[in-house]
Amino acid sequence: MQRIYLDHAATSPLRPEARAAMLAVLDGARNPSSIHAEGRAARAVLDDARSTVARVLGAAPREIVFTGSGTEAAALAIAGAAAAARGRHLVVSAVEHVAVLAAADALAAAGWEVTRAAVSRDGVVAPATVGTALREDTALVSVMLANNETGTLQPVAAVAALARARGALVHTDAVQAAGTSDVTPSALGVDLLSLSAHKVGGPPGVGVLYVRAGTQLAPVVAGGPQEHGLRAGTENLAGIAGAAAAFAAAAAERTSEAARLAALRERLEGALVAGVAEARITGRNVPRVPHVTHVAFADVPNDALLIALDLEGVSASAGSACAAGSLEPSHVVAALGLPDRFARGVVRFSLGRTTTRDEVDRAAAAIAATVVRVRAAGPV
Ligand code: PLP
Repeated sequence: MQRIYLDHAATSPLRPEARAAMLAVLDGARNPSSIHAEGRAARAVLDDARSTVARVLGAAPREIVFTGSGTEAAALAIAGAAAAARGRHLVVSAVEHVAVLAAADALAAAGWEVTRAAVSRDGVVAPATVGTALREDTALVSVMLANNETGTLQPVAAVAALARARGALVHTDAVQAAGTSDVTPSALGVDLLSLSAHKVGGPPGVGVLYVRAGTQLAPVVAGGPQEHGLRAGTENLAGIAGAAAAFAAAAAERTSEAARLAALRERLEGALVAGVAEARITGRNVPRVPHVTHVAFADVPNDALLIALDLEGVSASAGSACAAGSLEPSHVVAALGLPDRFARGVVRFSLGRTTTRDEVDRAAAAIAATVVRVRAAGPV
């Protein structure tokens, strides 16, 4: 049987446009900081990639910083803004990616106060919850645009309006929203926005941080003057060229792809709800990115289910790849307040550019049969 890859939220396969852009510079890549002809050619590639990403974000090239990952972009946003800030208080949502939560924990260890805003059963943080948490000394608010486990979209524009009215900077982790949602920072009203190339068909190991002009930020990785002095180190030219090509291609097909994926996800969820007893879909009635479905199957240990699905040729995950291998429900699942018999059976299926209707139908049948089989085997 042909394998069915339903883990695009972990990494989506490389797009041909990204591959071509990478190959075009890979052999000849030199140092963009060098003054000779080869260096100037490398600089031109880098400038071009920066302009492309800026155009996708409706931003200026000098507002774009390339980093080594989405994680590093979030770390630069949080640690970098904190180092340059006067306040000592940070607000994050309870369901942020570990990239943001770890940066927040590091600040807490350094004496900052961190408020984790709670979410609803659907995984949504209410703007009023963030509003109530804001204080005189709140320097920064970080609320993700789309959650990587549930796919739930957060009301970032409303949160940002409240936070900025109180003088706080706003960062949004838009890693899972790029490619299907509008991630224009000016439309969202945010100062900082992070992206990761490998979620949209670019290479892993390239992140982007949008830094609104005038935002005070200190580098996390210090050294040379690269990336407007915000991220030292010789640029990963081929990776950056591939990332820019991927973001451009994803933006060009965003509307049609979002509609296609929404229809496929609806088909998958319909089949799962009809075919599996006691399957709950997180946030089915709230705004979500169209490529993710987060399903809680009662009385099924998700590790056993994922292994059985893998043997059936279906690749899925328990949520965050970073939490894989852990038997405990993730912090996101814990924040949803699911009953324990459901919390231990959560699986994230994430669709993408290569997903077809036939794959969705075959996956739905395989998932339904596998759940029945694993349930019958009892707890491990
Ligand atoms: N933020 C979210 C929401 C993610 O899903 C991920 C990817 O796992 C990241 C940040 C980190 O991105 P990267 O894998 O490039 O470090």
